[in-house]
Amino acid sequence: MRRKFVAGNWKMNGSANSIRELLQGIREGAAEVAAVELAVFPSFVYLGLVEQQLSDSSVGWGAQNLSEHASGAHTGEVAGSMLQDFHCDYVIVGHSERRTLYGETDEIVARKFATARKIGLKPILCVGETLQEREQGVTEAVVERQIKAVLDLEGISGFADAVIAYEPVWAIGTGRTATAGQAQEVHAFIRAKLAQLDSALASQVCILYGGSMKAANAAELLAMPDIDGGLIGGASLEAKEFLAIAKAGC
Ligand code: PEP
Repeated sequence: MRRKFVAGNWKMNGSANSIRELLQGIREGAAEVAAVELAVFPSFVYLGLVEQQLSDSSVGWGAQNLSEHASGAHTGEVAGSMLQDFHCDYVIVGHSERRTLYGETDEIVARKFATARKIGLKPILCVGETLQEREQGVTEAVVERQIKAVLDLEGISGFADAVIAYEPVWAIGTGRTATAGQAQEVHAFIRAKLAQLDSALASQVCILYGGSMKAANAAELLAMPDIDGGLIGGASLEAKEFLAIAKAGC
């Protein structure tokens, strides 16, 4: 039985004050949604603050990105070992904003995934098609290609402790959510692809949906058999809304 997982991707939002307030709200409501695993993903610079505020709570945390390199002359980058200093559980890799705005290719994303795993950080691999790709009918081919890049490097065992987030690019930050049926179809496709290589592992893999998920549509999405939770952007910036999404998964 897979436990539901609701993760908040704060992107480049927040300040020390707003984060303290947001975390207080999440902490206060977390016990009510204890059946669901919760985690938040602040900007790197707030990881220390988040660790301080959450270390005695049931809420986990992670980073939104990491360098594929271990250390050295990579100005502006953050190494996985640095994330470990802040006791991150997870790290997001291949978010569509990283792919489109910062040129991260499938291969770079796969290397970041491998770097994270090597040091014991659980990667959350984001995959998903653009609107144009959906309209061209190549959604499955795109998602398969993005996952194959990781399989080529890490093999199926690479997904043992990993999380996959299906995030249709056209639904991210747009207010336009995939229908529960559309999302389920892709989630089932991903699980079936992994099952061709290892059916036991595929049945355990956590596959999140992301893309304008909010309290109002969470119950329908989370009721789908292959949707194991959500990666939440905008709606994770308000404790009440974030917790209401988790509640829908209880
Ligand atoms: C995201 O950035 O991962 C995301 C899903 O954003 P939003 O919920 O705002 O669409």
